[in-house]
Amino acid sequence: MTTSARFFVWALDMIYFIVRGMSLKKVTVIGGGLAGCEAAWQVARHNLSVDLYEMRPHTMTPAHGTGKLAELVCSNSLGSNLLDRAMGLLKEELRGLGSLVVACADETALPAGGALAVGREAFSDLVNERIEAHPGIKVVRQEVQEIPDARPVVIATGPLTSDGLSQAIARLTGEQHLHFYDAMAPILASESINEERVFRGSRYGRGNGDYINCPLDEEQYHRFVDELLTAETIPLRQFEREDERFFEACLPVEVIAGRGREALAYGPLRPVGLIDPRTGKRPYAVVQLRQDDLAGTLYNIVGFQTNLRWGEQERVFQLIPGLEQAEFVRYGQMHRNTFINSPVVLERTLECRVGEGLFFAGQITGSEGYVAAIAGGYLSGVNASRLVRGEAALVFPATTMIGALFRYVTSAEPERFQPMKPNFGLVTPLKRKVRGKKRRYQAYSQRALRDLQTYLIAPSSSAQGYPRRAASLAQKDTGSAGLSKR
Ligand SMILES: Cc1cc2nc3c(=O)[nH]c(=O)nc-3n(C[C@H](O)[C@H](O)[C@H](O)COP(=O)(O)OP(=O)(O)OC[C@H]3O[C@@H](n4cnc5c(N)ncnc54)[C@H](O)[C@@H]3O)c2cc1C
Repeated sequence: MTTSARFFVWALDMIYFIVRGMSLKKVTVIGGGLAGCEAAWQVARHNLSVDLYEMRPHTMTPAHGTGKLAELVCSNSLGSNLLDRAMGLLKEELRGLGSLVVACADETALPAGGALAVGREAFSDLVNERIEAHPGIKVVRQEVQEIPDARPVVIATGPLTSDGLSQAIARLTGEQHLHFYDAMAPILASESINEERVFRGSRYGRGNGDYINCPLDEEQYHRFVDELLTAETIPLRQFEREDERFFEACLPVEVIAGRGREALAYGPLRPVGLIDPRTGKRPYAVVQLRQDDLAGTLYNIVGFQTNLRWGEQERVFQLIPGLEQAEFVRYGQMHRNTFINSPVVLERTLECRVGEGLFFAGQITGSEGYVAAIAGGYLSGVNASRLVRGEAALVFPATTMIGALFRYVTSAEPERFQPMKPNFGLVTPLKRKVRGKKRRYQAYSQRALRDLQTYLIAPSSSAQGYPRRAASLAQKDTGSAGLSKR
């Protein structure tokens, strides 16, 4: 296109947005991170105007270093690009859906084998350029302290949401539904647990054998404790050390071990009420695994919140009988993380149950990681736009990674809800058995991409039945401060 033709198209766009902006509702997006930028872009793509509020550089977070939109706070990798990996599939879905942020990542990619690593500066520069050049998006550099009354609003302020807005969110959702700290235990793929070395059962035979128990004899226990005590941990940043009360209430497993060589055997690994059916005896210590998803494909290690480096978690926790080949779908972590109790607070469309037109997106919803944040931004931006246009909200099928992720985030067990990264354990199982992990994951991906295409042709069909699920969740929430289905 020639320069004058480009100018003509730009001028037409400007006129279109000025005229339309006068007649249509505006969407407000708060937070110019990965989720907020994607949400704003999707709203603008639907020919609506957006005000995108970002508090940096005037008010910084403890982790960001610049005033740029879409700054990557830590690693410069958006994870695997391979289709037999959950992160690779989610990115491919987002490419198909027209994600701005994934497109910018692709354009600024660095050589990184099967992963999508980006030039950190080039990536956020490109997102800034695209967002700021869009005539439908106005970037407002200001901290938002109250949830605006005018709707739709998308809150995408991330794990380090400013204090004022955090308080406003807590007032809306009830304080018990806003968490400020993550103390997460690792989550394992159940199919990677060696069933020959573990047994099912609950303490004193209560329940229906809900736990998987990994028995340790005295020698195995002491070897495990010794390795745990010498394993390398991640140094905490200053802002993560500030609130010690979270540590006391939810101590990392290595800190408990440091209080005495038998401390774990009297704590989370106590064997009382458990008999190993193969020996007829009580083991010296027991590591318990608890089901983490409705489908039973994921199990967390009970009481194993930890600050060990990820590689060290694999090395040390694989010493536990039955976990020799365990696949970690999420590592344990301790860090400051503001997130709402989404299973109680949000519908599967990412709209808030107590505020029509109020959406949440990104890490604050309890999804984990860069690409999950982009996916949440996409979904909330599209659904906010569809609300304005009077169209049915999108609820992607749970055979897709985007659909499965937000099904989990909005329907996990509220009492134990912790952030989750995309993984195949969340996806509806395949109807036929496929042997071999790689082939099975490839089959998941093929089905996901096919189902996504089908869904986009007739989106309303998969959304049917969604209000009924929301109703049952609302009933589950006994401790809520007035949260109910609209
Ligand atoms: C220390 C740290 C390290 C991390 N490392 C990784 C990693 O290596 N890989 C990974 O995948 N994930 C990592 N994460 C998780 C990461 O935060 C998310 O993956 C991703 O950044 C979330 O995107 P988001 O858009 O939800 O939040 P963010 O990217 O944090 O964006 C939120 C934006 O909202 C702005 N904001 C906050 N409050 C207000 C307000 N009141 N008004 C206006 N603007 C506001 C912030 O300035 C920020 O720009 C890390 C998180 C932390 C805290």
